[in-house]
Amino acid sequence: MAAGFVRCMYCGDSLGTDIDHFKPIARDPLSAFIWKNHFLACSHCNSNKKRDQYPCSPSGECLLVDPSREDPYDHLRLTLPTGKYRGITEKGSETIRVFGLSRPDLELGRAHAYARCGSMLRDWSAQIGGGREDLANTVLKSLSVQPFADVLYVMIKNSDAPGAANLFEAEILAALQKVRHILNVQ
Ligand SMILES: [Zn+2]
Repeated sequence: MAAGFVRCMYCGDSLGTDIDHFKPIARDPLSAFIWKNHFLACSHCNSNKKRDQYPCSPSGECLLVDPSREDPYDHLRLTLPTGKYRGITEKGSETIRVFGLSRPDLELGRAHAYARCGSMLRDWSAQIGGGREDLANTVLKSLSVQPFADVLYVMIKNSDAPGAANLFEAEILAALQKVRHILNVQ
């Protein structure tokens, strides 16, 4: 979520054409004037999916990942080859439900982005190996925006998880560890 220039902050897939009030005006009219309550969204996420939904826990905590403050990785897991998200917290599950992050078009897009990320990382390594840092930087720039950014982020996070060597081939794993350092992903 929220990875990519001018893209929807929820699905990351479409152009951000709408302004969504994260906390709906119907629920809190005064929040209409709070700048940090205004998120860039696509019309599908805003008008067809989220609308006025704002689920909360019994203690009043919002059960949607706020992409401006929270790391979705703490609440969502992405199965890279299928592009499917699953919730690992109640907030993660509610976020998938409310924003419709399991839409088939989104899952297919993430799966395709994963395949392309692998080939781009191989290309990045080859350019670094050949001393063409300028070309390597161009590849990395493309990887850092959608449709690749959120998939690359998960790949980087998974690159130091137990079993990472089974998830990624050695060349990709080595590239991910270097890219992690360059992009300063914690
Ligand atoms: Zn969207």
